[in-house]
Amino acid sequence: MKQAHLELAQCREIGLEAFCGYEVTRGNRELGRYARGLCGGCPVITECANEALDLEDVGTIRAGVAIGDQQTWRARAALEFCAAHGYPATSLDVAVQWGLKYGVRPRSNAGPRD
Ligand code: SF4
Repeated sequence: MKQAHLELAQCREIGLEAFCGYEVTRGNRELGRYARGLCGGCPVITECANEALDLEDVGTIRAGVAIGDQQTWRARAALEFCAAHGYPATSLDVAVQWGLKYGVRPRSNAGPRD
């Protein structure tokens, strides 16, 4: 991450390296909540999401996404959502983002029916 972005990063006190090699297990909801809480409101969240996508970061937390040992479609959709909107994605946001990309509607009854 660029130095200017690092200085503004909400996680600068923790240090980005603290997340390297993070034990991210699939379906770890607690870690997902932690990631969204940590990154929500970060002034460089958009840059962080774009960089994580470009560099294909794994085993870390970026832009409110706890990324496991590979960038799954779910992690990439969450990062793409965050890059586009500037805040961490919820599970529903991820489903919608994926649906927009591949032209399918998410299977969810959380939203209003049309
Ligand atoms: S979005 Fe999260 S991981 Fe990225 S710089 Fe901000 S606090 Fe750190």
